[in-house]
Amino acid sequence: MKRILIADDKEENLYLLRSLLETENYLVLSAANGSEALDLLRNTPCDIIVSDILMPVMDGFALCIECKKDPKLRQIPFIFYTATYTDPKDEAFALGLGADRFLTKPLEPEIIVKEIQQMLARPLVSVRNNGEKQEDEKVVLKLYNQTLVRKLETKMAELELLNTQLKEQIAEQKRTQKKLRKSEKLIREITASIPGVVYQFQMEPDGKMFFSFVSDGANEILNVSPEAIYGDAQKAFSMVHPEELKSVMESIQESASTISPWSKIFRATMQPGVYKWIQGVSVPQKLENGNILWNGTFFDYSEIKEYQTNLENKNSELIKANDELDRFVYSASHDMRAPLTSLMGLINLTKEETANDEMQLRLDMMNETVVKLDDFIRKILDYSRNKRQEIIKESIAWDTLIDDCWNSVKFHNTNKKCVFNKHIQQMEDFYSDKNRISIVLNNLLANALKYSDCEKPAIEITVDVNAHEGKAIVKIADNGIGISEEHQERIFEMFFRATNISTGSGLGLYIAKDTIEKLGGRLWLSSELGTGTTFYLEIPNAFLYA
Ligand code: ADP
Repeated sequence: MKRILIADDKEENLYLLRSLLETENYLVLSAANGSEALDLLRNTPCDIIVSDILMPVMDGFALCIECKKDPKLRQIPFIFYTATYTDPKDEAFALGLGADRFLTKPLEPEIIVKEIQQMLARPLVSVRNNGEKQEDEKVVLKLYNQTLVRKLETKMAELELLNTQLKEQIAEQKRTQKKLRKSEKLIREITASIPGVVYQFQMEPDGKMFFSFVSDGANEILNVSPEAIYGDAQKAFSMVHPEELKSVMESIQESASTISPWSKIFRATMQPGVYKWIQGVSVPQKLENGNILWNGTFFDYSEIKEYQTNLENKNSELIKANDELDRFVYSASHDMRAPLTSLMGLINLTKEETANDEMQLRLDMMNETVVKLDDFIRKILDYSRNKRQEIIKESIAWDTLIDDCWNSVKFHNTNKKCVFNKHIQQMEDFYSDKNRISIVLNNLLANALKYSDCEKPAIEITVDVNAHEGKAIVKIADNGIGISEEHQERIFEMFFRATNISTGSGLGLYIAKDTIEKLGGRLWLSSELGTGTTFYLEIPNAFLYA
């Protein structure tokens, strides 16, 4: 087995070359410099030397010189394998020393192996001849010195270049640091002028949390210095009211896992036992290092919270008062109707027993007033019922319902010819609150009769119903006095009357609209003065099992 000595001061170079050559079945000896190599060569016979040039203690040139001086070593083929000495003058000098090959790093493994194989296959005599052709020692030394100086100069130039580059890099770093400090100062100034705390919060993949920025607002809002909560988030968490800590932590985890904005209102301790309401909002993002980073703000929420609490209290008081008022109106109205009904009965009885015309006239007037009052109370009861009672879903046969409603209002017209038409198209079973719809239809039909045009020979009222595809559209058209455009917008307001002919309460349409809306429907109209009015109702089919 052929023995190869490799000399190189770099551990990794030795390792690579050794591995390569051992797989080619060579026995490899290695040395870290020329001196070590020389010792090895003098004790152990070798078949070839592969040496680096730039090495400590003794370089490759010196090793070559020593080998060629030594009669026992001079026949061993000598290969320079270098990365630093690559000048043609270096090669010429190396070959001049008696080296057999001058190879520059890096080379493909197979080329190195081939070179070594060729060298080993060469007849010994030619090698010996090369050794004999050495120049005398003085010349060699002179050339060696020149080579070293040349190398030194190149190295010096390289170092100078490196030095300049380093200086530039340091200057650039200083400039960047200065810019950073400046922008940090700017951020601090800007965030300090914001009425709240601006912060940057982070969570590491292992769950560790910390503040990477806290603005000066912390002094005022949280009663702590930014430095006190900067870094580990434990200090900040210890300020959260114990009752809210769990939900605060859960909300942070939720925001982190879904990368969705965080928003929380919680109490923070200002001093033992003294809390302040704080609102925190922030937007998270996932960083390349796996951390989640939130940019956000904390605001003092105390005033809004106080306002909110007051508002909530007032609201529940109002709801209570309203409810009580509703109950009172309902029972008062209810109780008032009974004496009115007796009064109407008594008036009618007295009328029957009186022949006096003047008395009859007065009794009629009394009756009319009582009827009006009764109508007003009835409407208030309707309104109250609509507010209080649950919606009852029941099957509605539109044909029958319209007839019933018409029959209950038609007696309002005592002296004028009246033509009533209805067109019903009911394509599906319809469910809604029959009682509520009756209240609305009664009001609209009664108005159609009430606001008739005395100029016209007959009252004409037409009702169209079209119930299909989940809703009913009801149209109630009359040929009455009509409503001027300016009044149409206000017609559904409470106590609004569009004409002085009206002796009503101005409640009917208000209640009708309110009732229809309770059923999820709509009420609107179209009207022209002197021509007539059409009211439209849209009522959703409440389907029994919907
Ligand atoms: P009331 O009839 O008791 O005055 P409503 O709320 O029912 O109260 O009606 C409000 C006003 O709308 C009436 O005063 C009347 O001027 C006008 N109005 C309602 N329906 C009609 C109608 N069909 N034709 C003309 N005017 C109407």
